[in-house]
Amino acid sequence: MAGNRTFTMIKPDAVSAGHTGAIIKMIEEAGFRIVAMKKTQLSRERAGQFYAIHKERPFFNDLCSYMSSGPIVPMILEKDNAVEDFRKLIGATDPQKAAPGTIRNLFAKSIEANAIHGSDSDANAEIEGNFFFSRTEQY
Ligand code: UDP
Ligand code: MG
Repeated sequence: MAGNRTFTMIKPDAVSAGHTGAIIKMIEEAGFRIVAMKKTQLSRERAGQFYAIHKERPFFNDLCSYMSSGPIVPMILEKDNAVEDFRKLIGATDPQKAAPGTIRNLFAKSIEANAIHGSDSDANAEIEGNFFFSRTEQY
């Protein structure tokens, strides 16, 4: 059975462009409840830990530089079928391929600077949420 939580972060390009509020509005209007949220910045090393699964990929070094280049807004979100419904709301990794009206279609600058992250499974949602938030920060 699908779980009811996912993890997201608004990425540096979208935060610096001033899209944080518009993106949070879309997330809440799509029926997600914000369980935890903060503004923070990753070091290059911590960005590498977060994306460790991609460490052999050609884009890994650039991705770590980009993800540590400025503040991000990580959040834990709650909704029925959260992981799958949130991936639909954000759209494809490449904004050129993201469906009209999705967050990446509206706000992403490139396949790398693509505005927002969304967990790809219930297990990763749990791991990624715990990467940023302790139990007592979750409401
Ligand atoms: N990425 C990139 N180049 C690529 C593919 C991915 O820079 O060719 C970046 C992009 O920021 C993406 C992240 O690496 O969101 C993680 O890639 P993944 O394939 O997991 O995409 P996602 O799950 O975020 O859609
Ligand atoms: Mg992914």
